[in-house]
Amino acid sequence: AAAIRLSGLHKTYKGNQTALAGVDLEVPQGAFHGLLGPNGAGKSTLIGLMTGLVRIETGSVALFGHDLARDPVAAKRHVGLVPQEVNFNSFEPIIETMVGQAMYYGVPRKRAGERAHQALARVGLEERAKRKPWGLSGGMKRRLMLARALVHEPRLLILDEPTAGLDVAARRDTWELLQELNANGTTILMSSHYLEEMRDLCETVAVLNEGRLIANDTPSELFGDD
Ligand code: ADP
Ligand code: ADP
Repeated sequence: AAAIRLSGLHKTYKGNQTALAGVDLEVPQGAFHGLLGPNGAGKSTLIGLMTGLVRIETGSVALFGHDLARDPVAAKRHVGLVPQEVNFNSFEPIIETMVGQAMYYGVPRKRAGERAHQALARVGLEERAKRKPWGLSGGMKRRLMLARALVHEPRLLILDEPTAGLDVAARRDTWELLQELNANGTTILMSSHYLEEMRDLCETVAVLNEGRLIANDTPSELFGDD
């Protein structure tokens, strides 16, 4: 089955703001797929729908063949999400958040501890494990979000503008980690409004504008080769 299959997704928010006007998209397993579009295009709404954070009104979402509305637990089991907003609990030690997240995905407590340390090491935050996250810099918070999304070793990683606001070095570290994960078989869907980032990283890019997919093609077809 495809990692992601979206059919006929529409979303209208209260006040009649149409965020999505009929989106169909298929992302095969193993892909590094981009979701490009200007602010307001509907990228976060689309990511919200495919991770169960925004309620599906019309259309359907299937992840690895599991329908998200009918079988949310199975559909979400292999998915890691890096949301756009920093949203971890500032009052508990980082390691607690990490272990909690792993257990939420069904990893037993003992394994969860190991996985949590591994994921923190992966993003260079191992020595912060026992501290609370409020001392972290913006870049470190972003890395922690990535570690949290990886703690249950998801087969599909969905990232909403993961490099927004990062400096060049931090951005490059994120790219390297994502490329390494993808080389090891993790399917990646990443939104961005940086065209160069999409061109350098993604095999395929879906372009969203005013709630519609206006293209879904390779970077060289979309942007040329220069
Ligand atoms: P993007 O992630 O591409 O910037 P969004 O999905 O955040 O796009 O937004 C798409 C459209 O839906 C925008 O016009 C935005 O103002 C609107 N929108 C997003 N979230 C809400 C909400 N919770 N309530 C009302 N309108 C919203
Ligand atoms: P809560 O409802 O417990 O406050 P949050 O929205 O703060 O949940 O999310 C807690 C953690 O779960 C975050 O790491 C978030 O990225 C992750 N998460 C939430 N929904 C999903 C999902 N559908 N798939 C993968 N991870 C998710």
